[in-house]
Amino acid sequence: MIKSDFNDYKLSSELLKSISMLNFESPTRVQEKVIPAVLEQKDIIVKSQTGSGKTAAFAIPICELADWDENKPQALVIVPTRELAIQVREDIFNIGRFKRIKVSAIYGKSPFYIQEKELKQKTHVVVGTPGRIIDHIERGTFDIAKIKYLIIDEADEMLNMGFIEQIEAIISSLPEERVTMLLSATMPRDIELLCSKYMKEPLHVEIEEQNTATDRISQEIYTVDQRDKIKLLRDITIVENPDSCIIFCNTQQKVNEVYNELAKLNYTCKKIHGGMEQRDRLRVMNDFKLGYFRYLVATDVAARGIDIDNISLVINYDIPQDAESYVHRIGRTGRASKEGRAITFVTQSESKLLKDIHRYIGKEIPLRERPEKQAVNNSKQEFAEKINTAPEIKEAKGAQLGKEIMKLHINAGKKTKMRPVDIVGTLCNIKGMTKADIGIINIADVSTFVEILNNKGELVYNELQKTPIKGRLRIVSKDIFQ
Ligand code: AMP
Repeated sequence: MIKSDFNDYKLSSELLKSISMLNFESPTRVQEKVIPAVLEQKDIIVKSQTGSGKTAAFAIPICELADWDENKPQALVIVPTRELAIQVREDIFNIGRFKRIKVSAIYGKSPFYIQEKELKQKTHVVVGTPGRIIDHIERGTFDIAKIKYLIIDEADEMLNMGFIEQIEAIISSLPEERVTMLLSATMPRDIELLCSKYMKEPLHVEIEEQNTATDRISQEIYTVDQRDKIKLLRDITIVENPDSCIIFCNTQQKVNEVYNELAKLNYTCKKIHGGMEQRDRLRVMNDFKLGYFRYLVATDVAARGIDIDNISLVINYDIPQDAESYVHRIGRTGRASKEGRAITFVTQSESKLLKDIHRYIGKEIPLRERPEKQAVNNSKQEFAEKINTAPEIKEAKGAQLGKEIMKLHINAGKKTKMRPVDIVGTLCNIKGMTKADIGIINIADVSTFVEILNNKGELVYNELQKTPIKGRLRIVSKDIFQ
């Protein structure tokens, strides 16, 4: 059931339905502040952490305000990384699902022409990384004339990554009549300058975390020699026996080394680092989210932004080089107010880094003795049992929303001059179908994908076996990859 709070915002029934199916019972504190302000078309600066519900805070009003009939993009979300672009795309897609909001993600190291094709079709919201957004704007493949909403997400991270000039270049190319939102965990001077330059009397929203991640997460330090780390990692994982665990290393090479060691020991594990193909990184991240394996060995690419629930343990195999990364890394556990656990290995020469972390988080992390041999031996059997049982597979976040939706594949596309209107016309002639039951239509060269909403997929699928589309009977099948 939807609590009255989301109803207070006078959102459309399509949005309230997705919100309820995503199990958002009431707005988070950041949402309480941001949703009404954006609905009133105000510029807004939000200082809050990931995990506060900030994505939905801008996604809900954007989806509400988007004009479905407009074919050109109306909202642009700039994010620092490809992973985040994909995640934010998915979050907006889920929220806008029943309003049939089309969201495209554009980011580097992924074929340009596929994104170009997508942008040519109806698109309401574009989420992208700075470099690729500029490429598309410069080549004329991303029409920004109708952009009314600009969201700059994780602004401080973009500043750290040296994107600030690119962001300015993007902002100055956009229409001036627009609402601008900026979200950032911290507010360095350069970000404040950016805001004062490009925003109109912005509203400031600051959400102090009531119970910060560093308070919620139980943290420990182990001192260890570099060459002894693998052995310590083994002992600790045996004793802790976590359901899911991320092991952070500082370099790609170290990730490979640790991964190889764990794989040799038959841990259900995978690795992720910036040197891997984008496709492989996404697959690993997604499989880890769904719980297909228990141990992920990672560099900092997995430390920020990505939304994975229920990671029981984070191990800093290498102590991070700066204190801020420490907080981001350990923040992977103990999300959504749950308790978490983080363990950090420190070598003798790294005591300065540890001191920096202590100063940054405002407390000392207790030092622990490494587990006794006896304790390790006692835990071995239980550990072996868990390692040999498949983890419980979790349901993807938007899965509930997808249940009423069936995606159909039709074996005709642009080459046979198929247009959305041909599909809509045929579908609306089926008894019991209205325009509101048709979801996103994607027309490729030789195929068309169309989503049928409200549990009417089976009906449409059966009817289309005998109903011609654009004068001919087409092969229509259920898209199993939806
Ligand atoms: P974010 O801060 O955008 O990374 O969001 C953190 C998590 O909170 C995501 O998994 C969201 O799906 C979830 N979330 C967002 N809004 C709500 C809400 N109102 N109630 C419950 N969960 C939410």
